[in-house]
Amino acid sequence: MQHQAISRRDRQPGLTSPVWAVNAGPAPKVESLSGAHEVDVLVIGGGIAGVTTALHLAEKRVDVALVEAGQFGDGATGQSGGIVAPDYIRHTPDSIQAVLGEAAGERLTRMIGGSGQHVFDLIRRHEIECDARQDGFYTPSHTDALAAQQRDYARQWQTRGHKVSFVEGVQARALFGADRYCGALRFEEGGGLNPLAFVRGLARAAQRSGARLFGNSPVTRLERKDGYWLCRTPIGTVRAQRLVLAANGGNAALHPAMQRTSLPLNVFQFASMPLDPAQRQAILPRGGAFTDKLPYLFTARLDGLGHLISAFPMSFMVNGDRACYREARRRLKQHFKVMPEPQIDFLWHGLAWVNTSFLPEIYDLGDNAIAIQACNGRGIATNTVIGSELATMLATGDRDALSVQPRAPVPVRFHAGASLLPRFLMSLAYLTN
Ligand SMILES: Cc1cc2nc3c(=O)[nH]c(=O)nc-3n(C[C@H](O)[C@H](O)[C@H](O)COP(=O)(O)OP(=O)(O)OC[C@H]3O[C@@H](n4cnc5c(N)ncnc54)[C@H](O)[C@@H]3O)c2cc1C
Repeated sequence: MQHQAISRRDRQPGLTSPVWAVNAGPAPKVESLSGAHEVDVLVIGGGIAGVTTALHLAEKRVDVALVEAGQFGDGATGQSGGIVAPDYIRHTPDSIQAVLGEAAGERLTRMIGGSGQHVFDLIRRHEIECDARQDGFYTPSHTDALAAQQRDYARQWQTRGHKVSFVEGVQARALFGADRYCGALRFEEGGGLNPLAFVRGLARAAQRSGARLFGNSPVTRLERKDGYWLCRTPIGTVRAQRLVLAANGGNAALHPAMQRTSLPLNVFQFASMPLDPAQRQAILPRGGAFTDKLPYLFTARLDGLGHLISAFPMSFMVNGDRACYREARRRLKQHFKVMPEPQIDFLWHGLAWVNTSFLPEIYDLGDNAIAIQACNGRGIATNTVIGSELATMLATGDRDALSVQPRAPVPVRFHAGASLLPRFLMSLAYLTN
């Protein structure tokens, strides 16, 4: 399905397509896969993970093809909020060591902490027009206890050379235009972008570098034959020596070992009507993007057209399109006094896939097949780096190129029940919000 710029004012009631299509520019010209092809590496999935892998492989002169079911960015990438967040979701630089050990922990911290700069450098290198703004990513604290912890988290990042600081309460409230926070962690190298324009720009760069890209080509069958991977789409085949699965939630249908390895997190993402001058002066006046740490989390950023972009997780409490629009308005009113009557122009549904570790995972499936499972609702920056590192590993054979060490996939126990957990937990969080 190709994104179309349908806003609330054009089409009522109901959900719209993501706001990003308004100024993402045209989709790259790609054909459907037809006939029989042979390549060294086949990548499946045209989101940020697959496209960056293909781009960097092609730059290293590896013969690579990428097959996408729909259009590039149709998955979580184009549904996302476009926040570039070089931070852990649950961990800190110190706490990750307890999970991974010192060397692997430091390595991952270096990767996560540097992922914002990596994204903006890549955009500059390929001159991608994607409304990129490196104006900071913040995680605000809603209690004094969290603020005290975050002062320590800032120190943890700083001692490792990252540009992270703690912004005290008054200053944080002025930076956000929201008065419910008592400080914030600031990641200077983070920011925001138009994720659809970003992935389209990367896809064009991959094509220019020699990658063969195919759209509207869902992989219907994947099998091992005569020592090769054979992938079938409705009207074509690709035979490859090596395979990268970058289909996010779609990985489960492509390889049996990927079944039941991640959990669905449904999110509603929305964009307000462009703010008026008074609102723009009050809300995020110096730009930046933030995601708070409350269970029913709140997030906000502005795009280049002045839309305020935010989101809320799906719960059992908000049902139906009208209720979603009501909830979007309630959230904006709750946080921003200067928006007593917010108008919502775009509201769309997105599906993120979460690992129980809340960490990016790379799975070694054997037979020269690797899977990237690193969405976690936070993969714009990290998956961009993972694609680059994975390409280096595939081109050189050096596993030390990877900051995330590949391991065997482990199914989530009681997966059917566990899949309901995110929505159930978000319902509880909604009630306490
Ligand atoms: C609502 C929402 C908001 C988010 N906001 C942010 C944010 O602000 N910042 C952030 O960092 N992260 C955010 N995320 C997470 C981020 O979008 C993801 O981590 C990232 O985009 C995942 O990229 P990916 O390439 O792994 O997967 P995807 O973008 O999902 O790409 C996978 C692709 O595989 C294709 N595919 C699936 N099955 C097949 C098949 N059989 N054959 C061929 N192709 C197939 C799909 O069509 C899709 O295009 C958000 C996610 C959602 C859902």
